[in-house]
Parts: sequence; C-alpha cells; structure tokens
Amino acid sequence: MDTTDTKNFSIAFSRRSFLIASAGFAASVALGGFSRLAAAPSPFTLPPLPYAEDALEPVISARTISFHYGKHHQGYVNNLNKLVAGSDYADMPLEKIITETAGKKDKTAIFNNAAQIWNHTLYWHSMKPKGGGEPPAELKKLIDASFGGVDACKKEFASAATSQFGSGYAWLVLDGDKLKIVKTGNADNPMVSGMKPLLTMDVWEHAYYLDYQNRRGDYVNGVLDKLINWDTALENMAK
Ligand code: MN
Repeated sequence: MDTTDTKNFSIAFSRRSFLIASAGFAASVALGGFSRLAAAPSPFTLPPLPYAEDALEPVISARTISFHYGKHHQGYVNNLNKLVAGSDYADMPLEKIITETAGKKDKTAIFNNAAQIWNHTLYWHSMKPKGGGEPPAELKKLIDASFGGVDACKKEFASAATSQFGSGYAWLVLDGDKLKIVKTGNADNPMVSGMKPLLTMDVWEHAYYLDYQNRRGDYVNGVLDKLINWDTALENMAK
C-alpha cells in the first residue's frame, strides 16, 4: 500500500464510519421520536401516597395498601392515559373529565377511570396514622349542627359504608351549607350531583378483603375510629 492507497483507504473508512454513524443517528432520532409519541399521551400520573405503605397498620396492612395503591390506583391512571390519548380530555383537569363524562353512555370507561383516580386520591388523604378522635373545632361545630354530634356522624358514616350494596364508597360531603353522609356505587362521585366531597371511604372488596375477608364492618369501624383524617375534611371545605 503506497501513500495514495493509504489515503484512499482512510477516506473510504472515514466515509463508512460516517454512514454508520449517520444511520445510528437517524435510528436514534426515529426511536426518540417514537418514544416521545408514546410518552406524550400520559398526562395523568399517580399522586404520591401521603404516608408509608405500612403506616396504617394494623387497621390496613401494608400488603393491602401495596396492591390497592400500587396496582389498582396505578391501573386506573394507566387506563385513563390510554383512553384519552390524543383527545381533548388529555388536557383537562380530572374534575372536569368526571363532570363532563358522567352519565354519558359512550364515555363510561373514561368516567370510571377518571373518577377512580380522583376517588382513591381522596381516600388516601381521608386517613392518617393515629387518626380518628375529635374533629378540629371549626368542623366539629358543623358536624354538631348537621348530625347532632360526632358519634352520630360516625354512626351514619358507618351505616352508609356497610350498607352500600356491592362496590362503592361512603362520603362525608358538603351539600349547600350542610354536611351529609352519602353512598355511591362503583366509581360514582357526589360532585356529579353538585355536592362537595370532604372525606371518602372505599368499600370495594379490594380495600379490605386481604385483611378482613367478608367482615366489612370491622374495616369500616377500624377506619372511622383509628384512621379517619378530619383535617382533610376541613381543608376540602375551604377549597
Ligand atoms: Mn379502591
């Protein structure tokens, strides 16, 4: 190989390297573009759990929370992201999706998953370690006026939660200037009926079956006596 050959080889080699590099670059752009497209329709994310997974033990086990939050709640987020990809719903707040799709037969899946994301987020915040006890004074005043006392309020809450037939929720809501206890089936949410949800209790079997099996009442009373977070009700009243 003389100097000319070496030079030609070197040019040829460089050119080949460049082509390989270009192909790689093109591939990475294509891949980058694809993953961006795949990532774009994921506007909803799983809100953080406000405590550790074992923080509600022994009333609710870490195992229940792990499945309920990590699988069920996450699943609703994943489903909604798939369902709203590329639609106007992708840019809407959850509350707006819920009220706009409620009662629309062709939007049931979107409603169910959006409402389940919202309901679970309120559910996690409706409990805290060492909860229960007396509500803050400002809330207690309204509870006394609406139910005739905290015990009466808790009794009505427990009754709604245990009597809800099948899956659903019991709620403490603000309806006008009065507090009320209501129950809803499946993913339904009282905001659809113009009420303001303050606290909620999930009574789907996935909320208690690992810990209590069929004893829903034990779960309900455990939550009300030991975990209920009255501060959340007060915060939501102010919203
Ligand atoms: Mn649930």
